[in-house]
Amino acid sequence: MNQLRYLANVLADFQRGDTRLSYVKHVENLSKSNPEDIRAFQWQQLKRIVEYAYTTNPFYRSRRAGALSAAFTLESLEHFRTIPLLEREDIRRYSEELLDPQIDKKTLIVSATGGTTDSPIRIFLDRDCVARRRAATVFFSRWFGFNVGDRVAFLWGAKQDYAGSDTLRSRIRRWALGPGIFLPTDMLNDEIFRAYYVRLRDFRPKVLQAYPTPLYYFSCFLERANLELPISHINVAAEYLYDYQREKIEKVFNSKIFNWYGTRELGHLATECQEHCGLHVNAFGVFLEVLRNGVPVFDQVGEIVLTDLWNKAMPLIRYRIRDTGVLTTRPCPCGSGLPLLLEVSGRLVDTFKKRDGTLIPGVALTSRVIKEHDGIKKMQIIQKDYNFFNLKIVKGERFRNEDLDKLKESICRFLQTELLFQIDWVDDILPEKSGKVRFCKSEIK
Ligand SMILES: [Zn+2]
Repeated sequence: MNQLRYLANVLADFQRGDTRLSYVKHVENLSKSNPEDIRAFQWQQLKRIVEYAYTTNPFYRSRRAGALSAAFTLESLEHFRTIPLLEREDIRRYSEELLDPQIDKKTLIVSATGGTTDSPIRIFLDRDCVARRRAATVFFSRWFGFNVGDRVAFLWGAKQDYAGSDTLRSRIRRWALGPGIFLPTDMLNDEIFRAYYVRLRDFRPKVLQAYPTPLYYFSCFLERANLELPISHINVAAEYLYDYQREKIEKVFNSKIFNWYGTRELGHLATECQEHCGLHVNAFGVFLEVLRNGVPVFDQVGEIVLTDLWNKAMPLIRYRIRDTGVLTTRPCPCGSGLPLLLEVSGRLVDTFKKRDGTLIPGVALTSRVIKEHDGIKKMQIIQKDYNFFNLKIVKGERFRNEDLDKLKESICRFLQTELLFQIDWVDDILPEKSGKVRFCKSEIK
């Protein structure tokens, strides 16, 4: 059946003119190359995309001094490092100027960010870039045992990652992707965990893809209830994976787990290999820098800055993702020459707690509540006590007074209880020591 599904994918790609599967071989070949060849490949792509953007794109052209009529030439990596960083706010403010005027907007595919720290932004992707991103996802997913057509379960907070609509086309697409079930993590307690256990036991997925925090709590539940689930391939992403979480999950499932790092802005960024000593960067799709005070650093924590090597529609050059991480020069025992991230340390979300023991991961609140409130530019929700919340809010241009009442209402609805609020109007939400703004915090021990 898997071969049939693979064939269905090939045919569907062919029909759509999608070159995803032909790019998988390119990603695989690069992953087997030595570091010098990988650096040479990246430099060639970097030069190509930067020169294209600075010659033709209105936003990047406006950053140039001197003769705009001349084609832009990127001379060296040092020259590249003089390019100012691209902020999330730039994408929000200059979304039209960042688009390639030579590409018809109607042909583009939109990726909206999840908005874990502020309201979402929209990234426009050209079809070739999407095909290459999918190829990278197909290739790196094989590292954690997932092949197109496998039975997969998602213990996942972001519903848009799962093809959920019910048209004939999306049903065919879901069938071609393989059988899957989606277990939302917006509210978790023992009753829900027991229901999830039964569904997973009956569905028998080969692969479980999860947010670490809900999977950790689910593992604790299985241990407490003395229940076993034989799932051999587990991967986690989207949140920081703590060592204590990894230990517990691996013990309960009796299986090594794989961590990976992806963003909606730039796709699949880095994946843990079978040696489990770091995450290899998707050098086919992105150029990843780790900077401290603007200078590249290795083997110490710095800020992650990303350049998309393919997206001409809306080039992201030196994009400040506001995550922190550690890049190393050490080779990995697995033999891959792809750059190695020792850790991605800056993605922190917290979990709200209810008096009856129900846990509500902050990411779930983000994806449900914040998207509905576009008058709010940024906010931070701090749980002071079970029914007492402090909201720090940065007003957006479209803010109206009734937005606050609606926001309070939706948080109460989300937590299914009456709450008291203290509101602080602030100019900005300042980052933690890690460099990442925490959208949600719970101060209940
Ligand atoms: Zn490795």
